[in-house]
Amino acid sequence: MSSSTALAGRRVVVSAGPTFEDIDPVRFIGNRSSGKMGFALAAAAAQRGADVVLIAGPVALPTPAGVRRVDVRSAAQMHDAVLATLPADIYVGAAAVADYTPIQVAPGKIKKHEGYLTLELVRTRDILAEVAAHALRPSLVVGFAAETENVEGYARGKLERKKLDLIAANRVGVEGSGFESDGNTLTVFWAGGQRALGPAPKTELAEQLLDLIAERLA
Ligand code: C5P
Repeated sequence: MSSSTALAGRRVVVSAGPTFEDIDPVRFIGNRSSGKMGFALAAAAAQRGADVVLIAGPVALPTPAGVRRVDVRSAAQMHDAVLATLPADIYVGAAAVADYTPIQVAPGKIKKHEGYLTLELVRTRDILAEVAAHALRPSLVVGFAAETENVEGYARGKLERKKLDLIAANRVGVEGSGFESDGNTLTVFWAGGQRALGPAPKTELAEQLLDLIAERLA
């Protein structure tokens, strides 16, 4: 089957963007993420005839044509929204999920004082690892890794620990790549190999990553 038709009729779930973890009614903790990579993947998969659900954190991006979008704010909301989409054929976790969230949201705005403010944070649930360990596990579970050093080592560590089929690693802190940028350079790792994609616009990388996903699915 050619890679352009392999996704037709497949149920594809993509998470994208950051999550915001509220501290009080006016402040939050979040990761830097524009959502561009995930939105480009959702758009490209829909173009290939997939049935696409996009779970989007707080981003200012238009909904791609033919994509069903569910907007969420927090990691807990993203977790519930993603898990509710199963069963699916493919899950791509492109969201920059917050690793920690305040143990409670202050009901009113926290007033400032001299000196320190201590926040108590708790780990969020790992959505990607839960999807990969789920009874309704998709055939292909794909993660992203943003690393500043030892890219292959950390990415392969996540591939194994989270029981993923593919992980797309990008080196952050390189000009023209990563977060808010329109372009990126990825290295995708799987148990038996790796492939370098780009440097290219995120729309083009989305096509290349879907080609690879289609190959691994076959
Ligand atoms: O461990 P790390 O956060 O670097 O792994 C990145 C990958 O895990 C991304 O694909 C991200 O979407 C996913 N992730 C997740 N839930 C979390 C943390 C990360 O799905 N709580």
